[in-house]
Amino acid sequence: MKEVILCKYGEIVLKGLNKSYFESAMVATVKRRVADLGASEISFGQSVLTLTPLDDAFDFEEALRRLKKVFGLVSVIRAAACDKTPEAILATAQTYLPPFLAGVSTFKVTGKRADKHFPMTSPELSAEIGGALLDVMPCLRVDLEHPERLIHVEVRENAAYLHADDSKGAGGIPGGTAGRALLLLSGGIDSPVAGYMIAKRGAIIDALHFESFPYTSERAKEKVLSLAGIVAEYTGRMNVHVISLTHIQEELKRRVNEEYFTLLLRRSMMRLAVRCAEKYYCDAIVTGESLGQVASQTMQALTVTDAVADRPVFRPCIGMDKEEIITVARKIGTFDTSILPYEDCCTVFTPKHPKTRPTMEKVLAEEAKLDLPALEDEAFAAIEEHIIKAY
Ligand code: ATP
Ligand code: MG
Repeated sequence: MKEVILCKYGEIVLKGLNKSYFESAMVATVKRRVADLGASEISFGQSVLTLTPLDDAFDFEEALRRLKKVFGLVSVIRAAACDKTPEAILATAQTYLPPFLAGVSTFKVTGKRADKHFPMTSPELSAEIGGALLDVMPCLRVDLEHPERLIHVEVRENAAYLHADDSKGAGGIPGGTAGRALLLLSGGIDSPVAGYMIAKRGAIIDALHFESFPYTSERAKEKVLSLAGIVAEYTGRMNVHVISLTHIQEELKRRVNEEYFTLLLRRSMMRLAVRCAEKYYCDAIVTGESLGQVASQTMQALTVTDAVADRPVFRPCIGMDKEEIITVARKIGTFDTSILPYEDCCTVFTPKHPKTRPTMEKVLAEEAKLDLPALEDEAFAAIEEHIIKAY
């Protein structure tokens, strides 16, 4: 008997001719994620990827933790692998499964026989394993309707697998199969969630953060880099580009009608994002905006911002309530960092009464009051790069 990790594919099972493309992307990601954890062997087939440690030094628990963050896998399960004989399976059930049944009073065994040469049918095998477990744990009862613990036995091509640990994977589709997108990453709650959601759909994520030093602090930037690190546990790594808006903000404050300050700032942010996306080959831009959350997130304000974008702007949080976004932030582990109280460039010089229903005409008239292209050139030339690796 050997303990292995079974990783089950999600949506890519439904892919037709392209399936092998998605599968190789996922296998490559899995290999990279566990490469520094010791020697292991990874095999795949029948929509399951099996990781077998090759020595005792392999960090099994850390591998489980990391693989639960690989997009494309719906479950990541610790399982016992044994020979495909009824004797080996029953013996393994009696030695491996009892700890998983501690503290429960009812269970059910479900058998799956992918290898039709195996001498027992799935129901026969399930019944035998149930009996073997009752022999060693007589206090237990079988409950076919509402078992407290479900035991699985799978007889596959190379071996039989037993498990009772139904652990959910990250879902989604494998990283790198949907192109590269640029996430506008603030230190808030919404944008890390937005980045996670688009990464889950297979995109590689680069991030762009705007700072406004000295109005925003070095610690505010460090907070953003830590957020990138948490999202990178799902994506592997993240390039974070940082652009300073200080000069642009000071000039906007000095020259434009206060009501339009935020809108003009957001248009400058979007133009700089487009330039950054162009430079780093990102085919879409991602933001954490949610309809109606603040003045710059009305339909009219978003229209004015999107008018300067030459590629799709994905806003996966657009229809989510704050509570729903927070639920995801807690799940992925960004929430506690997001709520650390550091300032963001968007809160520097915020007007009291921002325009919520701007017209393009008025926006353009305000923009004509200063040389934004020159200010943006200056900001873009000073772009700063960070490479964030999770592992
Ligand atoms: P979050 O939306 O991440 O909680 P927030 O609420 O402070 O942060 P908003 O003012 O709602 O940010 O900004 C909307 C979106 O604009 C953010 O989700 C993010 O995509 C982008 N954004 C805001 N500030 C910055 C920044 N300093 N750098 C990069 N992008 C930013
Ligand atoms: Mg927000």
